[in-house]
Order: sequence, then C-alpha cells, then structure tokens
Amino acid sequence: MQQAKDKTLLIKNAKVVVTMNDTREEIKNGAIFIRNNIIEQVGPSAELPQEADEIIDAAHHVAIPGLVNTHHHMYQSLTRAIPAAQNGELFNWLTNLYPIWAGLTPEMIKVSTLTAMAELILSGCTTSSDHLYIYPNKTRLDDSLEAAAEIGMRFHGARGAMSVGQSKGGLPPDRVVEDEEAILKDTRRLIESYHDASRHAMQRIVVAPCSPFSVSRDLMREAANLARHYKVSLHTHLAENVSDIAYSREKFNMTPAEYAEDCGWVGHDVWHAHCVQLDDHGIALFARTGTGVAHCPCSNMRLASGIAPIRKMIDAGVPVGLGVDGSASNDSAHMMGEVRQAMLLQRVGFGPDAMTARQALEIATLGGAKVLNRDDIGALKPGMSADVVLFDTRQIGFAGGQHDPVAALVFCTPANVAWSIINGRVVVREGQCTTIDLGTVMERHNALSLELAEAAR
Ligand SMILES: [Zn+2]
Repeated sequence: MQQAKDKTLLIKNAKVVVTMNDTREEIKNGAIFIRNNIIEQVGPSAELPQEADEIIDAAHHVAIPGLVNTHHHMYQSLTRAIPAAQNGELFNWLTNLYPIWAGLTPEMIKVSTLTAMAELILSGCTTSSDHLYIYPNKTRLDDSLEAAAEIGMRFHGARGAMSVGQSKGGLPPDRVVEDEEAILKDTRRLIESYHDASRHAMQRIVVAPCSPFSVSRDLMREAANLARHYKVSLHTHLAENVSDIAYSREKFNMTPAEYAEDCGWVGHDVWHAHCVQLDDHGIALFARTGTGVAHCPCSNMRLASGIAPIRKMIDAGVPVGLGVDGSASNDSAHMMGEVRQAMLLQRVGFGPDAMTARQALEIATLGGAKVLNRDDIGALKPGMSADVVLFDTRQIGFAGGQHDPVAALVFCTPANVAWSIINGRVVVREGQCTTIDLGTVMERHNALSLELAEAAR
C-alpha cells in the first residue's frame, strides 16, 4: 500500500521558477509538484495539479534549485576571526590555527556542523560536502554525519586526513596527524557504514586526504585505490597559492596537476578545492579527464591566494562547482554570497563579461551537482530530488530590482531563504529552521568556541 503513504507538496504562484533544465527555462508564475522526495511536475501554476497535502503559496518568491556547496570545513565555524589568524596567507594561517584545532571534541564537531549547516541552509544551500581532516580527542566523521541527519541536509561527508607532521617535513604539528593504516581502516569503516550510492541519497562518503603538503604520496595513491574499489569520490586541496606550487615543485618536482595525475587523482570521480594556480596544462588535463574544481572565491580573497581562472576552466570544459570553504577563512558561509563573489571576482580578473549572474547560479547548482558526481540534484525537473529554495523578493535588498528578479538574487545583497525544501521535507518555513532549535544550538556553539580558543592559550 505504498500509495496510501505518499505525501504531496505543491509550490505555486512563484514569481519565477528557475529550472536549470536542459534549455535553462525560467517559468513565470510557476509551480512545482513534489511527491515524497522527488519532483514530479514543473510548469505554469495553471497547468499543474491544484491540490496537494501541503501547498506553499510562493507569490513574490523566486524558486531555484537548492544550491550545492562543494567545499567546507564546518568545524572551523568555532574559530572565526581568531585574531592571530586574521591577516596571514595560507601556511601562516594554518600554522596559527592547528594548535587550537588540536583541542576539538566530538561535541564540538557535532554542534559546529549543525551551526554551519543551519547557516548554509538559510543561505539557499541544500546539499553540502564537508572536509573534516583533523581527528583529535576521539572525534569522528560520525559526529558530522549525525548532525546532517538531524538537520536534514543532503550531505557528502569527506573523510579527510593528515599524516605528514612537521618532523617529516609536513606543515601540521605531529600531534594532530594520524597513522596511515588507521586512516585507511577508518575510511573503509565509514564507507561500509554510511555510503549510499542510490539516487536521491542523503549521505555519501568521500575519500579525502587533506592536501599534498600534509599526507604522503603513498597515502594519496592508496586513497585513490580505496575510492575506486568502493566507487566513491575523491577530494583534496590543490594548487591553492604560490607557496603550494613551490612546495610541490620542491618536494615532488612536479606541478600540483602533474602530481595529482601521478597519484591517480584525476577523473570524473575526483574534485579538487581551489585550483587558483592551476596552469594551462592542468586545465587541459582536468577538462580531458572530467576532474572537478571547487571554486572558493571568498577564501581565495581572504587569504590573498589569487583569482582562479574559472572562466578559462569552464570554456575548456572543466566541471566547476562553488564552495564557501572553512568558516575560518571566509569567515562567512553564505552560499548566495559566494555566488555573488564568484561573479564579481571573475570580473575583477577577466573583465565585465567574464561571468553573468545566471552563469554564477549555474555553477552553484548544476556545476556543484556535476562536481559531486550526481545527476539527481541541481535542477528543477521531473525525476530530480525535491531540493527547492524560495527567496522572498519583498526584502529591502531587492527593492528596485524587480526588472530581473533572478539576476537580482546575485547582484543584490545576499538574502536568506524564506523556504527550503530538502528531499521533499520543509526544513525552513517562513525563514525559520524547522528541524533544530537554532537559538539553543548557537548558544552552545559560542560557548564551545570560547572554550576551544581558551584551551590553546
Ligand atoms: Zn579548504
């Protein structure tokens, strides 16, 4: 009696529905009909069913596919704007933060992940990856996975790792690195316990050594073998800034792209964060192999890493998604804000026609889906997962922007969503999170944040 249990949801009268379908159709006075966790129909309100178990009247709202965040370190929400780490470049910034992060506890991971996810969801994001690469004090990726299930976010948990400490020429202090056998064993455990390969999956596991300057070549290769054995994705940081390039040249006598290829880290199942300094050879390699890039414009500006050649990558055929990156190097995790910065930063680097508002939105939806190797999210069309967000155009930031409400979402002040539906479930209703008590979570988050910084003094 499956039919009896079906739950239907109708979103109707939307000012515009931005479908991101094959013709990039935008439907005025549009509607979306959802059955359980899947979109069944999209079209003009008058042509869709008029009845459903729940009806959302989306008059004055723009509906878009839920945004996809392809790079984050959610625990870093505990260490925003730390004075000693405010003004350095990547390696200096990391060196100041590692000793603080060494004090992380399981509760801190869980609470900071809930906080970071709430912030992302309120800013339009419905699917996020998180790259957790430091595991002191019995912390586990399970703490993040629990948080994702609790708040109801679609989640790709990346089992990060660091194994080369300072005594072996790496950047992190020895006390925060792990043994390589233990890393691989725990990664296997996580995949076997949590990875869901099916369409519309809410949780997937990703194999994700932190970066070429914090793990060995052996671990990079073993990680690739492991991921391919289980058919899961691979993720790491690559070619982030000039020091990163210098390290790669000195240590491996290769560019980061050459090193990635040498370790088996190219393919449609791989995506690399940043790639600010990816050279032409690297761009051609990534395009040819379908290797993805997570572009993190705020973080790249914050750490003065440079301007990633995103226009060039897209023209060459490289899959590109957007990432807010860790909250300690952004220090905002507003997904629509990131869309805006992606558009603006390409213009600073490459001219006013380097990226339009709609192209930036496309990177954050279809682009992110492709980078995460998914074909069931990123667009509003029949058969896709029911991940939809609604922005109310009556907010002050949009006043006077009615000429093109879709572009206004990107050009104007980044807004929070009025509604968010993830996998058919309403997780934000009229601007409020429905699945967690956000006030209580934030209060605990702030207490833990101070405790963590204090412990490192
Ligand atoms: Zn990162």
